[in-house]
This record gives sequence, C-alpha cells and structure tokens, in this order.
Amino acid sequence: MQSAVVSGLLKKKLCESCLIRQGFSKDTSRRLSVKSEECSLCEGLMARLESYSDALVNRLSEYEFDSFLVGARLPPDIVDREDELRAELKIRGKETLKAQVTRYLSNALSKRTGKRLDYKLPDITVLFSVSEGSIEVQPRPIWLSARYLKTERGIPQRSTICSVCRGVGCANCNFEGKTPHSIQAIITRLLKNMYRAEDCNFIWIGSEDEKSLVLGNGRPFYVEVVGPKLRHPVIDEGNLVSQSIKITEVKTLRSRPRSVPSFRIKCRVFLVRNDDIQKLPQSKREEIESIFRNSFVSVRLSRKQRVVAKKVIYVKFLNLENNQEPLLLEICCDGGIPIKKLVAGGEKDDEPIAVTPNLSQYVKGVSIDPERPFDVLEVSLLGATTNPTSQRSESKPDFELEVPLK
Ligand SMILES: [Zn+2]
Ligand SMILES: [Zn+2]
Repeated sequence: MQSAVVSGLLKKKLCESCLIRQGFSKDTSRRLSVKSEECSLCEGLMARLESYSDALVNRLSEYEFDSFLVGARLPPDIVDREDELRAELKIRGKETLKAQVTRYLSNALSKRTGKRLDYKLPDITVLFSVSEGSIEVQPRPIWLSARYLKTERGIPQRSTICSVCRGVGCANCNFEGKTPHSIQAIITRLLKNMYRAEDCNFIWIGSEDEKSLVLGNGRPFYVEVVGPKLRHPVIDEGNLVSQSIKITEVKTLRSRPRSVPSFRIKCRVFLVRNDDIQKLPQSKREEIESIFRNSFVSVRLSRKQRVVAKKVIYVKFLNLENNQEPLLLEICCDGGIPIKKLVAGGEKDDEPIAVTPNLSQYVKGVSIDPERPFDVLEVSLLGATTNPTSQRSESKPDFELEVPLK
C-alpha cells in the first residue's frame, strides 16, 4: 500500500476490522488501529457484532432449520462514509462493509448453531437491520400434498371474506378476516398448529358442493405452509382431524408442484323420486346408461371460455325399484365436469355453465335432492397435465389457486 494512502488512513483513525476491510494485513491493522468505539468509520459497529450474533442465535432458537442465509441492512451514513473515504484515497478496498458484516454473522451463527450456510435454498433467511436493531426471520415455505375427507354437510371448500369486518379481522371470524367455517379454514388451523406456521395457501384438485360429503380416500390437494417454525414435525394424522374434516396421506414435497394432475371422480347423486322416474322402463334406463358409457360431453365453464370435452366413464341408476332406499345415480367421470349440470343441464339456455349432453335431456323430471346433491366416493389422480400458474388467467379452470403464490 502506498505511503500516502497509509498516512491518509491513519489520520482517519479506524478500528482493526475497518482497516482490514481497506486491505491491510491482520497484523498491521492491529498495530495501527484505534478501539472500535473510537472508529470514525463504523463508530463501534464492529465491536457490537458479537452481541448482534447473540441476538440472532436467541431469536432463531424457536425455529427448526438445517440451513440459513444472513442478510444485513446497514446504516446508510456508514456506507456513505466508506465510499467517500475510498474515493478520497483512491483505493478499492478488499470488500464492502456489508460483506464483512454478513460474513461475520454467518460464521458466528454457523459455529454456534452447527447449521449450514446455504446461498441457494436456505431453510431460513435472516434479515438483520443494524440501524433499526431488528431481526426478520423468513422461513422457506413447505409444500405438502395430502387428501381431505369431509363427513359433515354444509361446509364450503373455500373461505370467503368475513362479511362483518370485510377482511380486517373481528370476533366473528376469529380475527382471521375470512369465514372460519370452511375446509380451507379448518385445514389451515390444523396445519398452522402442527408447523407453528403463519398461514396456508392451497391448490385444490377439484371441488364439491358445500352440501356434499367427501368419502373414500378423500380429495387430493396441495398446500403451501407459510412461515413454518417447525420443518420436520412428526406428522401424526390423528392430530389432523376436526369434527368434520380429516386430513390423510400427508407428504412433504421437495418444492412447489410444477403441474397439477388431472383426475377422475366417482360420486353418487341423490335424485328426488317422482312418477316420471319411477315409471322409467328398464329398456329406457339401459339405453340412457349406454349413451353415457365411455362418452364425451361438452362442458362450458363460463360464458366466454371455450368449450372443453370431458369423458364420462359410466352413469348408473341405483335403487330405482327399491323405494326404501334413496334413488341414486352413480357417476364416474373426468374431473372438471360440474356434476349437477351433468345431471340437470343448465336451467336456462343462456346459463354460463352448461354440460351437453346431460341426463335431463333423456329423463323427464330428473331433479337433484337440494339437501344432499352428491357425495364424492373416490378421486383418483391420472397424471400431470395442467400447469398451475398458467391457469390463473382463465376464468374458471378445473384447478384454481386460492391465493396468489409467491
Ligand atoms: Zn470501524
Ligand atoms: Zn371478521
């Protein structure tokens, strides 16, 4: 280092760390330095780093993680002073203050917690603001795949904005801003509790009527657990049960799913008994069943959207002659066919959602029990075909993102 630069730096009165950062060796820096508290550049910041790392370790004690990344926000006046000093003495310096601080904190954290520094995919990112003395912890979200069973009628799949507080949060909505009585809200509560998380975002694989039950092996879905404090909780499905919802087949995914699988559904529709149906002859019934066997129907999901072809595997009348049992239609078909419309069609011709052909075109007087429209018996996944992100632009896709994903 040139002597003019050396004498310039000496006049500034810098601490050891600040001298090292400008390019002096460790020994020289120690010899020429002032105490950190008297340093004209960092004004004691470097001496406080140890207590900052104490605060970080302390704050992270409530988080489960294997890897981390530290970011630091530094007081702008210190950064400016260093820029000016380097400009004045025409030196480039060895590294920036920010690099030195984050390196110090990362080393300290790694040594004291035994966890690994990871630039690519850290379990948690810690943002430390020196000027505000604040620590912000951002755990990487966890993606799960699972299924839910629903054993009580009258629970909608999704929450809507609370009508009392309009999303602000009030006693009516448990201060969540959203209706607390939905599959979304119940699953969110169960998973938040298990992962000590902040929130959950869902990718649903189809949906059912609010009055439908979901039986058999349940309906699959993906969920993003946001802000988890625990990353590897023991997944005890015995704890993932509420009065009416049960979560099963929970699996941790490596990342957000790239695509959403298409699926097939088996369900039972409850029909209202009436004379028209009661008098349906056996031959007519068989004819109708054969029309729908392995056939395609056109589904219009909204007024603007193009019509899509979906496959019906079979439609079967059950208990037609047995008055003691409910009159049922068993349907097996592609996901994305609105079941009620497949049975009853659209009520008016200009209705945005319609299925053709539909059963009401062949059976006079067919109507669905309004109290229990249909129950889902089985949902089977077929394979990945649908990209969840590209779905967002369409008005009513088979799969909808509940919350915009980050
Ligand atoms: Zn200093
Ligand atoms: Zn509210």
